[in-house]
Amino acid sequence: MHPARPEITPGPVNRHSWQAELARGLRDPAELLAALGLTAAECGLGAAAMARDGTAAFPLRVPLGFVARMRPHDPLDPLLLQVLPSPAEGLSAPGFGADPVGDLASARSPGLLQKYAGRALLITTGACAIHCRYCFRRDYPYAEQSAAASQLESSLKVIGADNSLEEVILSGGDPLVLGEKRLEDLLRAIDKLAHVKRIRLHSRVPVVLPERVDSRLLTLLGSLRSQVIIVIHANHPQEIDAQVATALRALAAVTSPVLNQSVLLRGINDSAGILVELSRALFGAGVLPYYLHQLDPVAGTAHFAVPDSTAVTLITEVMAQLPGYLVPRLVRETAGKPAKTPLGSFGTT
Ligand SMILES: *Cc1c(COP(=O)(O)O)cnc(C)c1O
Ligand code: SF4
Repeated sequence: MHPARPEITPGPVNRHSWQAELARGLRDPAELLAALGLTAAECGLGAAAMARDGTAAFPLRVPLGFVARMRPHDPLDPLLLQVLPSPAEGLSAPGFGADPVGDLASARSPGLLQKYAGRALLITTGACAIHCRYCFRRDYPYAEQSAAASQLESSLKVIGADNSLEEVILSGGDPLVLGEKRLEDLLRAIDKLAHVKRIRLHSRVPVVLPERVDSRLLTLLGSLRSQVIIVIHANHPQEIDAQVATALRALAAVTSPVLNQSVLLRGINDSAGILVELSRALFGAGVLPYYLHQLDPVAGTAHFAVPDSTAVTLITEVMAQLPGYLVPRLVRETAGKPAKTPLGSFGTT
């Protein structure tokens, strides 16, 4: 039994508008469906599914701005399908488990994962602005592994003592839901380590809560000695509206590249046309496609899986339509490998 994911404790709500926006996010499936003019029956949800969610370890969570980008009255809306809990999550499937990519085995200290040469990943918090139903860390034991202040200190010691670590990746959860002072203290502490050349932030927040990309954050990121790389997470072009594009361009102006990773999701973006539009929308906002991930087989997500053969066909079609720099690398993460494993023309299937 894993502990429930930690809740975000909003700061003084009237001081920072992004925190107010975060706190206003929906947590009740009934409210979400009402906002879209949908009934539970239209979405294939019985009363039990709607009620059970209230006590689930990974409940619904979605910012209002993301809801506003959903099409009303469409039970198959690609943004809705990413956040609406589904009874299919209760199904077990062969090969789908709790720690599908060997995260626990790769911990160098609690909350510090290293799988690959030269870079280590810091779990900064278990909290996220949105709960994505396909999340590979939905069962992650955050209470033990996330960087509480004391754990963070020991992780920073490990990083400080290892000159081979030239890149530190802040992940989670989502590092951009950390309180402003915690984030700043953490970034400055890493930035002080002379051998660290790059600090990378993996965050879905610029896409789901663009209010977070405010002048204070931009100033902070622009003030670091290390090169800063932001890897955002968008799966569908409909996620990138004008406000998101403005936030992404602002990030791109103060950091080294802004990159995107997507997860290939059945019924959401498993179409060459959608992937092509996503790459175009990203590049229009100053973002380069980086990875298209095959789903990590975490329990309760099998209904999102796309077979490898279909994935390879899709990426081949995308390659035929776009310049190389707009084609994400189709990869799978396999425990114990020295890098993500490429699929298709970039590798072998
Ligand atoms: C995915 C991942 C990275 C990042 O890999 P890149 O190929 O550098 O983007 C780093 N550390 C861990 C533990 C990861 O799972
Ligand atoms: S934002 Fe990322 S870590 Fe958080 S629930 Fe979504 S996929 Fe998982």
